Amino acid sequence: MSKEKIFIVKKKKISAKIMVGEIMKKRKKKNYQKIVIVLLLLLVVSGCIKNELKEKDIPYSKDAIEVMKEKNIYDQIAEKEYSKTVEKMLEEKKIDPKYLESYYQIDYQEKENFTTYTEKLLEKNYSAEEINNIFNYLSDKNLEKLMEMDYVALEDYVKVSNMEVDKVDRYKKYQEEKNTDTQTTVTYVNIGLDLEYYSNIQEISDPTSYSVLLNKYNALPDDYAPDDLVSLSINPNMQLRKEAAEHYEQLEDAALLDNVHIIPFSAYRSKTYQTRLYNNYVASDGKKNADTYSARPRHSEHELGLAIDVRSSVLLDNLTDSDYEWMQNNSYKYGFIIRYAKGTTPITGYIEEPWHLRYLGVELATDVHTKNMTYDEYYDLYLKKN
Ligand SMILES: [Zn+2]
Repeated sequence: MSKEKIFIVKKKKISAKIMVGEIMKKRKKKNYQKIVIVLLLLLVVSGCIKNELKEKDIPYSKDAIEVMKEKNIYDQIAEKEYSKTVEKMLEEKKIDPKYLESYYQIDYQEKENFTTYTEKLLEKNYSAEEINNIFNYLSDKNLEKLMEMDYVALEDYVKVSNMEVDKVDRYKKYQEEKNTDTQTTVTYVNIGLDLEYYSNIQEISDPTSYSVLLNKYNALPDDYAPDDLVSLSINPNMQLRKEAAEHYEQLEDAALLDNVHIIPFSAYRSKTYQTRLYNNYVASDGKKNADTYSARPRHSEHELGLAIDVRSSVLLDNLTDSDYEWMQNNSYKYGFIIRYAKGTTPITGYIEEPWHLRYLGVELATDVHTKNMTYDEYYDLYLKKN
């Protein structure tokens, strides 16, 4: 090959190389553009997905999320753990951002008016802890009453089953004075023992009930008289309501079988009779003394036709110790309790009357016997509608 030819071939090779290079350059440029577009697209798409994921991460209902956004508390709630209380407050549009921290500490309760009560209690300045106690312990009736009241520190009284929210101030005063435990304080104040006898008198609404509680704070309606009185077979001048009379006779028979001889000496008394009796005692002994052993008219269980005084055959107006013991261990089987038993004066307000039996019915008398407390306490703890 001549030198010329070699030169031409070299030149062609070079120009071919240049062409290939340029084509490659153009291709690379197009590829870059594609990559950029793809990357941009990816960015946009991932952004959308991310946003969607963020909302799906919050396990709240759609309605709740809407309210969060309205109130501008979405981010605050999103970064916290799920709370059913928060969700319910949101859903029912009762949420107030200033109480957000408190909602998280209030345990949700499947309770009617939960959100309304929560809203009101927070507005009354109850703490989350107090609100949890209120929901855990208070009866519906107490809750309703509490809603009508200004803030009151319920303290440990909230945990006592027979407490009444409108008596908390009286509980505090009584406990401070008497140094009684919380449960005793509540029961005694409920009975009325922080007040003078025969003050704050309530008229009982169900005088025919065998379980009625009659004491120095509860009175019979003025015109009440039982309409099922029957005479006792042992003494036709003594009457009790029919069911009580039948059970009394069973009691008397059972006592006799155990060689306990008891004789009734006072049963039903009319209002007129009780009035005369009480007035006579007052005349001879003074009102203060009379009140310790005689009930004022409309306050005596004898007026119910459900009380009977019995004596041992060897005594004039009392039971012997052994007869008293028999009565304590057996009378409940026939529906009777010793209403003013030994040691109960501070609660009943009467001197002990071992002879005074009160008919309650077998089931109730058995339970009162088992619980071993005065009927005043029993009634407040187990029978009163709270
Ligand atoms: Zn009596």
